[in-house]
Amino acid sequence: MQNQQTNDDLAQELEIFRTAAKRFVSAEILPHYAQWESDGIVPREIWRQLGAQGLLAVDIPEAYGGFGSNFSFSMVVLEALMQANCCALGTSVTVHSDIVAHYLLNQGTEEQKQRYLPGMVSGDCIGAVAMTEPGTGSDLQAVQTTAKRDGDEYVINGAKTFITNGQHADVVIVVAKTNLDVAGAKGITLFLVDAATEGFSRGRNLEKIGMHASDTSELFFTDVRVPATAILGKLDQGFGLLMDELKRERLALAIGAVASAEGVLEETVSYTKERKVFGASLSSLQNTRFKLAEVATDIRIHRAFVEECKTAFLNNALDVPSASMAKVSCTEMQGRVADTCLQLFGGYGFMREYGVSRAYTDARVQRIYGGTSEIMKELISRDLLA
Ligand SMILES: Cc1cc2nc3c(=O)[nH]c(=O)nc-3n(C[C@H](O)[C@H](O)[C@H](O)COP(=O)(O)OP(=O)(O)OC[C@H]3O[C@@H](n4cnc5c(N)ncnc54)[C@H](O)[C@@H]3O)c2cc1C
Repeated sequence: MQNQQTNDDLAQELEIFRTAAKRFVSAEILPHYAQWESDGIVPREIWRQLGAQGLLAVDIPEAYGGFGSNFSFSMVVLEALMQANCCALGTSVTVHSDIVAHYLLNQGTEEQKQRYLPGMVSGDCIGAVAMTEPGTGSDLQAVQTTAKRDGDEYVINGAKTFITNGQHADVVIVVAKTNLDVAGAKGITLFLVDAATEGFSRGRNLEKIGMHASDTSELFFTDVRVPATAILGKLDQGFGLLMDELKRERLALAIGAVASAEGVLEETVSYTKERKVFGASLSSLQNTRFKLAEVATDIRIHRAFVEECKTAFLNNALDVPSASMAKVSCTEMQGRVADTCLQLFGGYGFMREYGVSRAYTDARVQRIYGGTSEIMKELISRDLLA
């Protein structure tokens, strides 16, 4: 009885939080979003506004400035952005809140947590994670960036690319090789690098086919000196740490994909009711009704699966194959839904002023970052055949 009461209270709190998050997105983000898309970046101030509204890193404990809520609350923020077709900002926020903040929380020393987390919650300190390099993405063990010990310091040299929040970032988690004499996975370490450190520089904000409002950059490290205390987690054990944290990242991507598809469907249902073809509404055609029915079914099945995965994650029981299945299946579904819905808009679907065109281009990269669909299938099949 008491458990039921607690669950009901939690569900109610989640809904109140969802309403507040959606209201903020409608009032403070949507009116400016087209401008940010054309700027290729959101203004720095929006991060502080998100922080002031309690929408960043919400599941960080109060001891570090957060609200001590759980993963479901953080997903409410992501869902509010994705359902409103603000996928680029959703991605930037999830990298900051659901990836970088949690690497720090789970792997950081007390000093590191105190130093960065309060600013991440308030939006004064923006986080990025730099794994990918020009020469390697899927094969993380092949990174070429090095960090060499010199007295009490490490000297980092290398280049990263495609880094989300690369232009805005104040702190970057950098994946570097610290031991060149052992096989890839055994000699990798993560470092916390402040953007103000000498030798750190940003390349241009990369031009993409979608996700325009999210800044994506090359980052360069030229004799960047950091103290040994900048190591996140343990020396030479960064690869295992990355693998531990990837489940959360992949589940968040899956949940964001479902939310985006839900938003696109809603917009498409409205459009097909209004649009007239051959003297009747587009929604009266059987093809339209069947396509909408297929899309709604596809989304519903994936929603059920991510809810199952979310419950498992909250109970510390989400396994790698399930997180991989969620990531590959939900992001592929998002792509299918965006494509089917765009077709129902006809020529208008191809016009930038219609949201469905943005949903379509934004959806494409979801199958690439956070581990490509092919890598997800590798992980799933490896488990099946073990
Ligand atoms: C908009 C955007 C934002 C990004 N944000 C970040 C970020 O914040 N931080 C970060 O570190 N990275 C980020 N990335 C990089 C992203 O994670 C990589 O692009 C991705 O992991 C793929 O790596 P790659 O581009 O080097 O492709 P490659 O690894 O070169 O892959 C090329 C092709 O080969 C396939 N392939 C590779 N290995 C295998 C295999 N073993 N079996 C079968 N097929 C395989 C791939 O699936 C793909 O189809 C971002 C990328 C984009 C586009």
